[in-house]
Amino acid sequence: MRPLEAHIDLDALRHNYQLACRCAPQSHSVAVIKADAYGHGAIACAKALESQVPAFAVACIEEAMTLRQAGITKPIVLLEGIFSVDELTLVDSQGFWIAVHSQWQVDALLAASPHQPISVWLKVDSGMHRLGFSPNEAADIWRQLQAAPNVTALHLMSHFATADAQDNHYFSRQMAQLQALALDLKAPLSLANSPATLAYPVAHGDWNRPGVMLYGSDPLEMANEISQQLKPVMTLRSEIIALRQLDEGEPVGYSGRWRAPRPSRIAVVACGYGDGYDRHARDGTPVLVNGQRCAIAGKVSMDMLTIDVTDIPDAALGSEVVLWGSARNGAILSVDEVARHCDTISYTLLTGVLPRAPRRYHGGSA
Ligand SMILES: *Cc1c(COP(=O)(O)O)cnc(C)c1O
Repeated sequence: MRPLEAHIDLDALRHNYQLACRCAPQSHSVAVIKADAYGHGAIACAKALESQVPAFAVACIEEAMTLRQAGITKPIVLLEGIFSVDELTLVDSQGFWIAVHSQWQVDALLAASPHQPISVWLKVDSGMHRLGFSPNEAADIWRQLQAAPNVTALHLMSHFATADAQDNHYFSRQMAQLQALALDLKAPLSLANSPATLAYPVAHGDWNRPGVMLYGSDPLEMANEISQQLKPVMTLRSEIIALRQLDEGEPVGYSGRWRAPRPSRIAVVACGYGDGYDRHARDGTPVLVNGQRCAIAGKVSMDMLTIDVTDIPDAALGSEVVLWGSARNGAILSVDEVARHCDTISYTLLTGVLPRAPRRYHGGSA
């Protein structure tokens, strides 16, 4: 059997969720499990969290239905609301909560005849400039929705563009707009994503929306005391399947990008971009062999990658290789660090792990 597996530590997931709750004890925290729980498996993650969370959040109704069909009964927020009018029938029958970001969604909601009023999070564009109404438009629509019999549990929702950055100038501008609007409308708020949950108590509303932090990735440009307590949930683990000794100057892999700067021992690992490992990984991207750090040497191939194990004498056929996550000896390689070497973010690495790397679940029982 090919040794590559993505191990998912559901106890770590629960630990990270509790950490999000401890950051914001006055708020409810929805667990954001869109995109198959950032690649971790939405059903397994939802089952592990269901006894602790008041609600889940996903991007669309297909993701919400997957959870319902797996027996998840907690409320589920559709963060982008409905994509077509006919989805309101399912929203009604399943009790989904919906974001409303466009006029056609408002019109459809007001024209519908649901069996019970629908919970609505009205999306305000406070500066992300992606989805939502301008603060002025939002105030009018808020009053319209508030008076509508089809609508209940109305909240204002917004999303931050820069809550992860050290420079809080733009964040403060978004926050000031939202505070003015919320004061005017006496509106309950849902604002905070993971970085705002971790770093900006001022943004904690009735509901927070932590996502990536639940999976143990630190979204902050500069880690803080709380984010340092996050635990990795996914460990992408494989093994060494071949070893060779190269003379100084010999190249490795496609186009010979890496050349041995000294007599070098090269190990071949069963993991490649066909598994979702990022082909942009540069020479020097860290990996753990038997829990010891070493580095990628040469371009990532579809099914394999090559690492320099010259300084790891115990590296052998079958040795454990951790691409990110926790090694058996307890050493940790954060997916954030790997992402930096690939010029990307943890989100793309985690959501990018393909089904060829089977998920193996550990822990998580209530
Ligand atoms: C994905 C998403 C989140 C979670 O963001 P993280 O950065 O992963 O915490 C929160 N709110 C909305 C609207 C989202 O789409």
